[in-house]
Amino acid sequence: MFDSMRIRLTLWYTGLLGVVLVAFALTTYNYIYTATAKKTDDSLVESANSLIASLTTELNEGDQTPSEAIRDVTLNIRLKDRQFAVFDKYFSLVANSEAPVFRWKNSHWPSIENLARVAENTGNGPVLVDSPASRSVRVYSVPLQSRSDIFYVVAALSLHEQEETLEPVRRAFYIAVPLAILLAAVGGYLLAQRNLRPVVVMGQQAARITSTNLHERLVVHSSDTELGRLAVIFNDLLARLNLSFERQRRFMADASHELRTPLAIVRGESEVALSQKDRRAEEYRESLEIVNDEGRRMSRIVEDLFTLARADEGTYPLVVSNFYLKDVIEDCLHSERSLANERGINLNFVTSQELPFSGDEGLICRLVLNLIDNAVKNTPAGGQVSVHATLESEHYLIHVEDTGTGIPVEARSYIFERFYRADKARVRVADSNGVGAGLGLSIARWIAELHGGSVTLERSDEMGSTFVISLPTTNRKMGNLEKGEGGGGRV
Ligand code: ADP
Repeated sequence: MFDSMRIRLTLWYTGLLGVVLVAFALTTYNYIYTATAKKTDDSLVESANSLIASLTTELNEGDQTPSEAIRDVTLNIRLKDRQFAVFDKYFSLVANSEAPVFRWKNSHWPSIENLARVAENTGNGPVLVDSPASRSVRVYSVPLQSRSDIFYVVAALSLHEQEETLEPVRRAFYIAVPLAILLAAVGGYLLAQRNLRPVVVMGQQAARITSTNLHERLVVHSSDTELGRLAVIFNDLLARLNLSFERQRRFMADASHELRTPLAIVRGESEVALSQKDRRAEEYRESLEIVNDEGRRMSRIVEDLFTLARADEGTYPLVVSNFYLKDVIEDCLHSERSLANERGINLNFVTSQELPFSGDEGLICRLVLNLIDNAVKNTPAGGQVSVHATLESEHYLIHVEDTGTGIPVEARSYIFERFYRADKARVRVADSNGVGAGLGLSIARWIAELHGGSVTLERSDEMGSTFVISLPTTNRKMGNLEKGEGGGGRV
């Protein structure tokens, strides 16, 4: 039951209000009590002082003995709810006004012995205390010096009147505070229920959304309220999820489409080879070469797909080390040289520095190779592919320039997308080395970004294209990675 947000909100709210109300009631009551008690004490002291004044006059001016004078004055006093008693230095009673009729809450009016006990505590100065026998009576004792002797005047006052003032205040608080808390609890619960209803509705709507209807959205009544904003955020999340599902579906469809063609060629070629008896050795060889080429192509596609899948998951096993970019570029050019020679393309590399770098050497090699490979494949025979590596402020810039056919304007903004090929027809008819699945540049971009850098198409026209790799000289992105630790980012 306490798991319900409504109940919890109500309890918190009511509890807090209860504490505030009780604190307010206690403080107010304490204030009234202190003021009333002071008034009572002042009145008691005042009446005792006026008795003392009369006694002093009588003792100084009269011709009676001190005891007679005291008795005379004291017995004549009649004041409501009060009693006066005078004791001698041995605390024996000298005079005593009548005790008031007192029947109140099981309390007793203090006896003469009790009053004498207060007088005994008087010492050198006046004392103002609750009666020892009853907390409903205040007692004031004060010494009185006559010419020859010392006496103690004790005045007692019932707190009846004070209680009559305080009782209604207490009763009001006893009723008002719980009533206010009860009303607040009911009101708070209803308010919480009303305000949380949209959350319940949102929850029901969200529960109906699955991967098959990710395009559905929560109804947003007002985007100015907290819940409205929550619905908008949730809808944004759904949109991102939908996009991600959509990408995943497209990726699967594109991947199977890319694999379907080489598989069909392999099957077709092997079926033809098997169906004809008495084929010549060269014919078998030709078929096997085609099967081998397509097999290699499929391996490359599967390897690229695997790289991208691990990049998406962020689980690509990185091997970080220190190396020279110059060496890596030279290795890439070396492995690309036979293809370039085969196609009659001149490859050259210009740099004046070693270009020390820290990162995954295998991935950086793949990044550079993808660009050189694209340049070689898209450059006609007799053309030129040049690589320039330079250091500019805090970045290494590697330019890969070709004298190829260029990339059509409408294709330029898509070439970094997965499975995108600028000229599908042309690629299809190329030899096996020229057939790409459209994954090379998206992998290149992922590798560059993983190392804190970028790959961009700087220029492309009918004279050729130039791609630029930019890598930070201090690779902060990988600064925290231990050598050999995994952790690729998304492409
Ligand atoms: P692929 O594996 O097909 O080469 P990429 O992602 O590497 O895929 O490249 C995407 C497309 O961009 C290629 O199919 C090609 O049409 C175009 N492209 C890339 N580099 C060049 C280049 N240097 N010259 C002309 N076109 C290029």
